[in-house]
Amino acid sequence: MYEALDRMSSQIAGAPTGTEHVRRQNIALILRSLRTEGPATRTELARRTGLAKATVGTIVGDLRAGRAVSEDESVSSGRGRPGRPVTLTGESIIGLGFEVNVDYIAAVALDLAGTVKLIETRPVTAGHPPDIEQLVGVACEIRDSLIADGHTVVGATIAVPGLVSHDNRTVVWAPNLGWDDVKLASDLEDAFRDPCPTTIDNDANCAALAEASHGISTDSASSLYLTGTVGIGAGIIEDGRLLRGGSGFAGEVGHMPIGDPTSVCGCGRLGCWEASIGLRAMLRGVGMSEHETPVKTATAVAARAERDQGVRDALEDLGRDLGTGIATLATVLNPEVIVLGGYFVPLGEYVVPAAGRVLEERLPSAAMHLPEIRLSSLGIHAAALGAAEGALAGVYAGNVPV
Ligand SMILES: [Zn+2]
Repeated sequence: MYEALDRMSSQIAGAPTGTEHVRRQNIALILRSLRTEGPATRTELARRTGLAKATVGTIVGDLRAGRAVSEDESVSSGRGRPGRPVTLTGESIIGLGFEVNVDYIAAVALDLAGTVKLIETRPVTAGHPPDIEQLVGVACEIRDSLIADGHTVVGATIAVPGLVSHDNRTVVWAPNLGWDDVKLASDLEDAFRDPCPTTIDNDANCAALAEASHGISTDSASSLYLTGTVGIGAGIIEDGRLLRGGSGFAGEVGHMPIGDPTSVCGCGRLGCWEASIGLRAMLRGVGMSEHETPVKTATAVAARAERDQGVRDALEDLGRDLGTGIATLATVLNPEVIVLGGYFVPLGEYVVPAAGRVLEERLPSAAMHLPEIRLSSLGIHAAALGAAEGALAGVYAGNVPV
C-alpha cells in the first residue's frame, strides 16, 4: 500500500541534490520505519534502518523540534538502561485531500500519524457542477484555517472523477464536471499564498487506497473499489498497489458498453454502464429527485424503499445491472473484495443481494474465487481521505521536508 503512496509522490517537483537529498532520504527512512513497524528507541531505529546511531540521533532531534515525533520522557535513558521509545506523532504536519465531484466538494486533513484532523463536505449549487474558482476558493480557505491553527500543510492532492495526466498535474477529461485539459495542480499552487506541492489523482484510485489503508479492505491485497456517484469509476488494487494501466487511465469502468443501449451517458455515448447504474439513473428508476449529496439522496431513497415495493423493485433491477458489470470486472481482475462506495452504501440491503446473485451466476467456474461484496466504511469521504494520504506521500518518500 505504502509503495503505491510513495509512487504517487514521485512526481513532486523540486527534488534537492547532494547532502540535503541524502538527509531527506534518511529522514523518510526513519518516518517509514516508525509508521510501518511502530515506536522504537534510537538504537532500534539504527538497527532497523541501517543508519549510524549518531545520524539517527540528529534526525530524531530535528523531527522532535518539528513536532513530527515524540520521545517518552517517563522512560529514563542512559548506560545499561532501555532507551526512550520514539513515536510518530506529527499532529501539526498535515496532508490535505480534496474530492471535487458533481454535487459536492469534500475535504480531509490527515496528520503525519494518520489521524483525521478535519473532515467536511460542502454541497455545491444544485444542477451546476463546481467550477475551478469554487474549488480553489474552498481549498485556500481550508488551508488558511489549518495554518492559522498552527499546522504545517506539506501538500495537497485533489481527487477528480475523470482522467488525470500521468504526471498527476492535469485533469485531462472529467465529463461530469465539464472539465477538459485543466491544469489544476498549477492553478492551485498559484492560488495558495505560499508553496504547497499539489497533485491530482482519479477519485476512484484515491478511494481504493483509502479503503485499503484505513477502511473495509485492509485485510486484502487484491480489491476493487467502485465509486457510487453520478459517474461510476473503479480503483483497482493488485498485490497492494494501484493498477494504473499504460497511460494511467485504468478503471474508467463507467463507460463500459454494458448499460441500457438507449440511455445517454455524460460522455455523450449511448449504453455506458454508468448511464444505467449512476446516481441519476437510479433516481429515474425510483422516480425521486436529487438531494444535496449522493449519500443524502440515497438515504432518502432507502427510507422510501422501506414502505414502497415499487422502489424496492427498481433497486433490485439496478442491483442486477450492477452485478452484470461486477461479474465482468471480476472475470478479468479476479479481486478478493469488491467495495461499493458513495450512494450504494445506504442502499446496500436493496442492491447487493441482487448484484451478488448475478455475480455468482456469471462466474465462469465454481473453482474461481467468488469476490466478497462489501460496503465502504469510509463513506463519501473515502476519496478525500485517500487524497490526503497521497498529499503526505511526499514526506514519506523524502521529497518534501518536515
Ligand atoms: Zn460514457
